[in-house]
Amino acid sequence: MSSTKVHNFSAGPCILPKEVFEKASQAVLDLEGSGLSILEMSHRSKPFEAVMAKAQGLVKELLGAPDNYEVVFLGGGASLGFHLIPLNYMRPNGKAAYANTGEWAGRAIKESARVGETLVVASSEDKNFSYIPKGFEIPNDADYFHFTSNNTIFGTQFKAFPKSPVPMICDMSSDIFSRPVNVKDFALIYGGAQKNMGPAGATVYLMDPERLGKSDRKISPVLDLKNHAAKGSMYNTPPVYAVYVSMLTLQWMKDQGGVVEMERRNAAKAKLLYDAVDRLPLFQGTTAVEDRSVMNPTFVMKDAALEPAFDELWKAAGINGIRGHRSVGGYRASMYNALPIESVQVLVDVMDEFAKKRG
Ligand SMILES: *Cc1c(COP(=O)(O)O)cnc(C)c1O
Repeated sequence: MSSTKVHNFSAGPCILPKEVFEKASQAVLDLEGSGLSILEMSHRSKPFEAVMAKAQGLVKELLGAPDNYEVVFLGGGASLGFHLIPLNYMRPNGKAAYANTGEWAGRAIKESARVGETLVVASSEDKNFSYIPKGFEIPNDADYFHFTSNNTIFGTQFKAFPKSPVPMICDMSSDIFSRPVNVKDFALIYGGAQKNMGPAGATVYLMDPERLGKSDRKISPVLDLKNHAAKGSMYNTPPVYAVYVSMLTLQWMKDQGGVVEMERRNAAKAKLLYDAVDRLPLFQGTTAVEDRSVMNPTFVMKDAALEPAFDELWKAAGINGIRGHRSVGGYRASMYNALPIESVQVLVDVMDEFAKKRG
């Protein structure tokens, strides 16, 4: 292995704790002394059943979910979730309400519109998704209200969650486990694993069974969340390795002090970076200050002509993945749970050094 230290700000798939990578490598050779690789064992075997149960339990424990909530891990990414949600929660003549706060929210809206009447009740599209809409009304005859807690591409985040008169569904792909949430306020929380929870390949669904299976639609069992929950996430072969590595990461979060500690660390990292963006005249944030994402800070150089020189400097410092999404440009420093504050300090030092040379 190379000894060069890489500071990985990748937006997803993203950095995971080093000890998780070590344990995950070992399990490919021999899962906990079973003599079998995690990759070759039946998902119905005792050792894997224990992995699944532990992963499900840790999701609920870390988020403080009510006992009766169900956890399933499916393939297909959060993008499949965009389609499953209207199928599972919207009645044939019903309607759904959505907040449009960015690229992923927009994709969720498009999928819902394929299934039935879809109302956009809040949007920040007028200002290129640079803020979080507030004070909007959610109609009480909608079957559910869907929003995206953290806008991974545009770098905004709901600091306070909306109050909804109808079941609330949230795509938390990019900030799940980054802070405490009141799970019972949500009918469903879901997210792709590859940003905070684990590797790509699994999507977690945390569901209130009381508000599930009420859409009165005939849906295929493979798309039916109630079916997956009833089968304990084993209706078909689950993404075993992604579930295993997620379990390790969830255990790591618990050992570190849980989501309260993650929130403390994430706040410190975000403050360090945003302070530099605000302090150095070369740089500028791209979003409303009060809505700044703790997970995916975005910023630009006021003089874009300086970008190539800045790029050279951070690449030389071992930094990876801070180029902004192709639809936004500029920079995005994704700072998921496993990114140490030391890496953020390296980036801030590079920004300071660049400002001294060019400022
Ligand atoms: C990355 C991301 C997605 C897409 O996830 P896939 O697993 O690639 O389908 C959806 N929503 C948000 C908020 C994301 O950050």
